[in-house]
This record gives sequence, C-alpha cells and structure tokens, in this order.
Amino acid sequence: MNPTTPIMMNRLNSPDAEGGCLCGAVRFRVTGQPLALSRCHCESCRRAVGSAGVGWSIFRREEVTVVRGSLAQYRSSAQALRTFCGNCGTSISYESSDEPAQVALATATFDEPERFSPSREVWLEHKLSWELLNQSLMSYDRGSSE
Ligand SMILES: [Zn+2]
Ligand SMILES: [Zn+2]
Repeated sequence: MNPTTPIMMNRLNSPDAEGGCLCGAVRFRVTGQPLALSRCHCESCRRAVGSAGVGWSIFRREEVTVVRGSLAQYRSSAQALRTFCGNCGTSISYESSDEPAQVALATATFDEPERFSPSREVWLEHKLSWELLNQSLMSYDRGSSE
C-alpha cells in the first residue's frame, strides 16, 4: 500500500480511515464508524502522550488493523494497555480489559483527524487549569460511563 495514496477519493463510498505515527513505521486502518469520540484529561493519558488533553477515537477491535510495522506496548495500569511506535514514540492506542471489544486510537494520529472531532470531554478532575474546555461538548468529572 502506497502511503501517499490519497484516501479522500473513496471518502463518500467508504468509511475507512488511516493513520500512523510520526516516523511512518506504524500505519493503521479502521473500518466502520467510531463508537465514541472523546478528549481525555486524565493524568495517565497526559503523561503517556505528553499533551494536556488527548483525543481518542474508539472503534470495535475487529475494525482496527495495523497495516504496517508493529506496536510496542506499555501496561499503564492493571486494566490499561497503551501502544506506541517503538521507533519514534508516537502514542497510537489505548485499550482496557474493562472494555475488551474496543480499542481507542489517538485521534491526532489519523491522516484526517478532523473527521473524528471529540463529542465529549472526560476526566475533568485531572484537567490542567490552562487547558481550555470546549463548552459545547458534554463533560464528565471522570470517565463518561460513570
Ligand atoms: Zn514511528
Ligand atoms: Zn485518559
């Protein structure tokens, strides 16, 4: 697969989307529509990604495929597994044993991240004071399932 092939041309016919890490060693593809789109302010995501708020696009596990390279892993808690490119360090995914059928992909690593803008803000308990909230979105002190 040529990574420079524009995926725009199939956009109306196919919901597929692709993304990848900074160095290009890891590429992934999703099919179907996201189950949820959130921006997380929790301390774990903040440190893992190095960003005050982290956008996550949550897909069914069977709809996520790594099409180039392989992912390094780090277990950030008993439930949580985070993956990243072992070469450049870009955070790629988050998964929780509490939701084994789902994988969250770092929204900003998609080639067209504007397609997956967040609809909710979560873990405001940990939000940094200088990080602005999108007031038009739903927000939650912790995870949105609580
Ligand atoms: Zn990389
Ligand atoms: Zn988080």
